[in-house]
Amino acid sequence: MTVIIIESVLFIALLAVGGAFVATAFGITPWGRRLRQTANRRRIDKQAELTCPLHGLQREEDLVRLPTGEPLCPKCYEEAVHGHIG
Ligand SMILES: [Zn+2]
Repeated sequence: MTVIIIESVLFIALLAVGGAFVATAFGITPWGRRLRQTANRRRIDKQAELTCPLHGLQREEDLVRLPTGEPLCPKCYEEAVHGHIG
């Protein structure tokens, strides 16, 4: 009985060590760096998509999706629909 408990504890410890090793490998290998850089690009692309040249950064849930599939700043859409005021 005790042997089974020790074995399972050792197995869990082995999993933990393996997990830590994989995490370290992802962090320091060129592959890990590539993944991070790709994630950075996506983040900046997304932020650029959310940023209107006239009205600045918009919240993603506020963006208006045009029938063409292009996302548009809600303030620009409002002006386009109701015309420029002033
Ligand atoms: Zn705008």
